[in-house]
Amino acid sequence: MDLSFTKEELAFRTEVRDFIKKSLPESIRAKMQDGKFTSKEDMVTWQRILNAKGWAVPHWPVEWGGAGWTAIQRYILREEIEAAPAMTPLSFNVNMVGPVIAHFGTPEQKQRFLPRCANIDDWWCQGFSEPGAGSDLAGLRTAARRDGNHYVVNGQKMWTTYAHYADWIFCLVRTDPQAKKQEGISFLLIDMKSPGITVKSIVTIDGAHEVNEVFFDDVRVPVENLIGTENRGWDCAKFLLGNERTGMARIGISKERLKYLKKIAEEEDADPGFLQKLAAVEIELKAHEMTTLRILSAEQRGAKGPGSSILKLRGTEIMQSITELYLSLAGPFGLQSRREGPDEHLSNEEALDPEWAGVIAPTYFNWRKLSIYGGSNEIQKNILAKMVLGL
Ligand SMILES: Cc1cc2nc3c(=O)[nH]c(=O)nc-3n(C[C@H](O)[C@H](O)[C@H](O)COP(=O)(O)OP(=O)(O)OC[C@H]3O[C@@H](n4cnc5c(N)ncnc54)[C@H](O)[C@@H]3O)c2cc1C
Repeated sequence: MDLSFTKEELAFRTEVRDFIKKSLPESIRAKMQDGKFTSKEDMVTWQRILNAKGWAVPHWPVEWGGAGWTAIQRYILREEIEAAPAMTPLSFNVNMVGPVIAHFGTPEQKQRFLPRCANIDDWWCQGFSEPGAGSDLAGLRTAARRDGNHYVVNGQKMWTTYAHYADWIFCLVRTDPQAKKQEGISFLLIDMKSPGITVKSIVTIDGAHEVNEVFFDDVRVPVENLIGTENRGWDCAKFLLGNERTGMARIGISKERLKYLKKIAEEEDADPGFLQKLAAVEIELKAHEMTTLRILSAEQRGAKGPGSSILKLRGTEIMQSITELYLSLAGPFGLQSRREGPDEHLSNEEALDPEWAGVIAPTYFNWRKLSIYGGSNEIQKNILAKMVLGL
């Protein structure tokens, strides 16, 4: 199998790199480079720049803004955005609810939601997990009872990322309590301004506010906000989760973080033992990149397999090893927290000093989430055991 890029793909990479260099606001690039918190406004600004170029949703159907590209072209765009470094378009919009609406929605729903979703005129959040229903998602209990032209929703969602930013939430709700677990679930779009919704923040171990609890108390949702068929929401959920995991290979981010780590290690004259560990992670990353290209190449030829689970598992393991390397290089200084605000992560000072090292720990802690969300890594291993090993 030839995994090298074609001449056209290399030219495409140059075009993408040039565009990003020219269009990415310096203030956003600098924040990303320094591992600092990027705001909602930064995210919206950047996604709109990409959308105006036709690059926010290249994987969507062409009639709804897709670019009609190959999987390799999409991979190149993502890698270049991550390496810039810049934020990739908001996953809840472009990889989750957008493709679900494009696939399962009515023409009216597509018209109403998709253009706003691509341009982030609506910020979406994901209401799947609940207390007691994470890995066992089908055990969810948030109920939607039909009442005339509305559903009346009661229950609680958990770990809802950026619910405090969101205009809309896409939810899995139980519409038939009598049916078998997976069969009584529906996929519902809910306006976050609806009376009866309460968002309660959760501050994580790194001091960041990303996740929330969302409570629904007799929330009335018009029936036209149901996606697909009532009680067939599990089909939408499976479709969505496959897309979510594929986006977790994160090769561009890992390359960028490793490149910077190497620079510091060199400046600090890091010991050979550390450099050996760094090289080992770099080799792992190269292997992961090859695996990603192999999976993309197979998918371009129509093959289906457990690709998204492999990419999620290895991509997140490598990202976590990188934070371990940073922490190890920072040594005892890594114990100090010198962050100015609650959402700053890695700092990119010129040299390793206590200030630089003091911001490493929050990122180390924050990135523990990677092996939990999007289906925990243990669950991905179960999937691989079943699909690859036949266990
Ligand atoms: C930072 C963050 C952001 C998140 N954002 C969102 C969001 O926006 N929207 C949303 O809906 N959800 C979100 N989640 C929730 C996430 O999807 C769940 O946390 C995840 O699915 C795990 O579920 P749980 O937390 O209930 O853990 P549990 O399912 O209770 O699992 C606990 C532990 O047991 C292991 N385990 C469970 N079952 C098995 C099994 N069968 N075999 C082997 N091991 C098993 C798990 O791997 C885990 O280590 C987020 C989570 C985090 C941490």
